[in-house]
Amino acid sequence: MEKDILNNSIDRSWIEKFDKPLTISGPCSAESEQQIMETARKLDPSYVQVFRAGIWKPRTKPNNFEGIGVQGLKWLKNVKRRTGLMVATEIANAEHVKLALSFDIDVLWIGARSTASPFTVQEIADSLEGKEDKIILVKNPIHPDIELWIGALERFLGKGIRKLGVIHRGFYTYKTSKYRNQPNWNLLFNFRNLLPRIPVICDPSHICGNKEGILDIAKTAYHFKYDGLMIESHCDPDHAWSDAQQQITPEKLLEMLKQLTGSNTCHEKNQNNLDSLRIFIDEIDENLIALLAERMKISKKLGTFKKAADITIFQPNRWDSIMKKYLKLGKSLGISEELLEGVFKLLHQESMNIQNRI
Ligand code: PEP
Ligand code: MN
Repeated sequence: MEKDILNNSIDRSWIEKFDKPLTISGPCSAESEQQIMETARKLDPSYVQVFRAGIWKPRTKPNNFEGIGVQGLKWLKNVKRRTGLMVATEIANAEHVKLALSFDIDVLWIGARSTASPFTVQEIADSLEGKEDKIILVKNPIHPDIELWIGALERFLGKGIRKLGVIHRGFYTYKTSKYRNQPNWNLLFNFRNLLPRIPVICDPSHICGNKEGILDIAKTAYHFKYDGLMIESHCDPDHAWSDAQQQITPEKLLEMLKQLTGSNTCHEKNQNNLDSLRIFIDEIDENLIALLAERMKISKKLGTFKKAADITIFQPNRWDSIMKKYLKLGKSLGISEELLEGVFKLLHQESMNIQNRI
């Protein structure tokens, strides 16, 4: 689908009716009716409009808690009836959709692992045909593929589902990182240039994987004028059955949200200014540092290997050949010889120091 047509097909009315930025909150997983009711009751409805709880949980490994299943939908319906909050859950196949619809769940989100699978997304879209009133939020796929993400939106638009939004929950990285899922503000910036009308929500909980980083990520989301936040909250976070490290109490959430609405970055038009560019640069630097750490770990292994095999640490032939290769690669990417040579001399020296210490 052409980007302009796609962009103009998106119905933003569902999010524009809120007088504050959208906040979706609630536990990672529904555990008991008492747990979700208590959490929901403690959320301040003047800040939180949508209550979330996972009923079916995609877990990396089997034999973990995989969600309470269909009985949780009844609890969610009761939360809606008693608190007046809209309710949201994750769906991952046609059966989930059918059940969620039968309990009148207002917002359905597609998890990061599901977005990565075109068959799954198509199955979900097909099963939503004729349900134009539903709000569908599509989390970013686990790997940073903008076209795959947009493709998922196209599958819903193709079925007449226009009340859409996306959730930035970060991307998988195998590197040493302070994040559970690396945010990619620059990718999101490009994404929004392609589809400026799509509501964008940030999920600091799954980006950070801890409680401590949530506020900073939420501030950055405000800086970029995201349309809302999804933050996990739990009446007793330490005893949560999933994602215990990253959930906060409803009281703590309120404190954060007050701080955010008070922060002056909230309503500025700052898409391409100094602060934004600095955020992009910092993001790249953090990635560089994580890569450096990986490189140093391998240097250490190299040192151990060379020592055992009695090989000299400095190998001039290898150094010459890699430098030649890197200078050529750098040139093709517009990087000056000086920069490349300087950086690699330093890295090489440090690697030899590490190996010498072994
Ligand atoms: C969740 O929101 O609880 C969840 C499982 O999210 P994600 O798909 O981002 O991992
Ligand atoms: Mn979670």
